[in-house]
Amino acid sequence: MSGSENQDGDPENQDSDQDDLSLIMEFENGHISDSNSGAEREDSSEEQEDLPLVNMSTGEYDRDIPTTHGYLGRLNPVSGYTLFEDGDVLKDIFAIYTSTLVFPGFTLPLLMNDTFENRALDNFLQEHHKVFVLICPNSLYSGLYEYGVTMEIFETNLRNDMLHIKARGRQRCKRVTGSRTENLAGRIKLITVKILAEPPIVSPLEDTQLLALKSKRKWTLHNFDELKQCKSYRRYHAAQFPLPSWVYDINEVSYYTKILLEGLSAYGKELVPEDPEKLSYWFVQNFHLSHRERLEILGLRSTLERLKLEVAYFKLGRLICCENCGIQITDPTKVFAMSKDGMQSNFVNPGGHVYETITVNSAINFKLLGTMSRVFSWFRGYAWTIMQCSNCGNHVGWKFTSTNPRLSPKEFYGLANSGIKIISQKPVADPQKII
Ligand SMILES: [Zn+2]
Repeated sequence: MSGSENQDGDPENQDSDQDDLSLIMEFENGHISDSNSGAEREDSSEEQEDLPLVNMSTGEYDRDIPTTHGYLGRLNPVSGYTLFEDGDVLKDIFAIYTSTLVFPGFTLPLLMNDTFENRALDNFLQEHHKVFVLICPNSLYSGLYEYGVTMEIFETNLRNDMLHIKARGRQRCKRVTGSRTENLAGRIKLITVKILAEPPIVSPLEDTQLLALKSKRKWTLHNFDELKQCKSYRRYHAAQFPLPSWVYDINEVSYYTKILLEGLSAYGKELVPEDPEKLSYWFVQNFHLSHRERLEILGLRSTLERLKLEVAYFKLGRLICCENCGIQITDPTKVFAMSKDGMQSNFVNPGGHVYETITVNSAINFKLLGTMSRVFSWFRGYAWTIMQCSNCGNHVGWKFTSTNPRLSPKEFYGLANSGIKIISQKPVADPQKII
């Protein structure tokens, strides 16, 4: 929301007056509510009004609701699951630029309200394409980041001349060095990328084992506690190398999985995946990391490398502050999950702007602007009010207030990633000693 860039702050495409106008409107009311399609928006929220808000088994707010992006109304499903081979080159593939990142396994809602973007994307869909690449700015916001994620469209609908889309992250990819980038329309570009498929997870002791023995003895396991029980057997195999056996232990994926799963248990066990690869993407999608830290993780090539760096970032103390003036807005202990996707999810407003939103149960140093509205609410059953930094007036997010007395929590805050910045401090505690 900061600066004078266009809709999603594309540093390579900053020449649209119309986009500047949208930005001003967003500053005024958080969610653009121009007259073109207001009636339709009311309809799409009303059509879901009677659906239950409370999970019958837990008695709490149904955290499946935000994951469906029901505020977009009913969309038509698109079937298929596309995975490319490692090293495949996708020449001149459709790429959509946003200021946010979506990692493999997570959902991006998109709303194309720009005529040219609409037309380009509609043609793309008419030709039965459904995989595009999501790209974002580099850490200095001076150009495009070289890595991106392939996204597969799984629901779409054209309504009131606006394309409503939901897409899911599939695979990491990298722009091919020296290839051209063509601006097609608005946030849409044509780029050439190489697919970076996930390498299999292997133990550092993999090659030390005699094949005949491998089948007889358990020596590498997904669970680090069980792995420790094979200690003497692992030591025996590591003895042929100059490094002590613990070096091999701390290069096992299960070592980092255990640290993260224990550290993240406060967010709810049912939310955090135990599978190492999924956990590595869940962490980077959900944990309050700076843009630079997230880009660094996206550039790493294996689950082990990602988990290692994530554990290092996890141990840093953090504050969540106003992006503009740096005053504290909240701290990580206030972060909680209102959605099954986690604490940090992407949502789109009627203006087409994608906001990555982090949910917290309390905040400081803010003031509310305007009145509450239920229109296009990302959390059905809650009305939103714009939050500004009380120090500098920067838009930092929305307060969500329940409109139904049965709902718990009664209120919470959704902080816009674009309006806040994460400030790292030195490690909060000694590294967890689990060996
Ligand atoms: Zn501020």
